Amino acid sequence: MSCDLSALANLDPSDADAAQRLLDQCTAALTDPSLWIWAIVFTVVCAVVGALIGRYKNAVVRDAVLGAALGPIGWIISLLLPAQRPKPACPKCRRIVDAGDAHCRHCGAKQ
Ligand SMILES: [Zn+2]
Repeated sequence: MSCDLSALANLDPSDADAAQRLLDQCTAALTDPSLWIWAIVFTVVCAVVGALIGRYKNAVVRDAVLGAALGPIGWIISLLLPAQRPKPACPKCRRIVDAGDAHCRHCGAKQ
């Protein structure tokens, strides 16, 4: 007996233990470590591919999260989203400042 809808459709209603055996078999399939290892590896690979897409969009974290959460659909969304502009750097100390700041928060230089 396999764990699918045809097994459920062909279940003998007079055999009370048959339903329990099918449930046990399906539960065992869900707790199989190879299934979870495969799912984790797939999620990590999707996040890495999303991060690589995000590298060219200047949004590595955003696109890695999209890839991990949505898989290939997240990659498509990442490709369709606009690239993020890099934050401006202070002309004096070269550290990153927020756009619109009047003075650098690190060295105090006027922007
Ligand atoms: Zn500065």
